[in-house]
Amino acid sequence: MSLSAVHGTLSSLKSCQADIGTAMDIVTNVAIDLAEARGVGSERQRKTLKLTLLDEDIAVTQTQDNFFCPLTQVEMVNPVKNKKCNHCYDEAAILNLIKTRHNQKKKCRCPVVGCENTDVRKSDLVLNKLLWRKIESQKRQSNRT
Ligand SMILES: [Zn+2]
Repeated sequence: MSLSAVHGTLSSLKSCQADIGTAMDIVTNVAIDLAEARGVGSERQRKTLKLTLLDEDIAVTQTQDNFFCPLTQVEMVNPVKNKKCNHCYDEAAILNLIKTRHNQKKKCRCPVVGCENTDVRKSDLVLNKLLWRKIESQKRQSNRT
């Protein structure tokens, strides 16, 4: 086999690897959504499925996320993302802040330092599923040790 043939095979293998990575991501999400949608198994079984898939997620992404809520400074339980400015907060904390500010007839500023979003609304908040899963996985790992 010539050197260029080896090189060609190697690069096609590499592109395969990338495809497999993407496919795994899709499979993971689909599996979780299916289990949730169909109500497969008990709550415990579903949780096990999620956690099994979580470890692979972590290995694939390897990114360091901030799990701490800018409001409470503790690890988030239900992380939500602001669609407008992409900042994350713990759901209970941000809803509480919005309520307090609105009761004072004021707009709720994004609590993240330096953020220019001066009007945070409940409708701007979406569950940050990815972050939630990472937090769950981290919890599991720290329980193990
Ligand atoms: Zn913000």
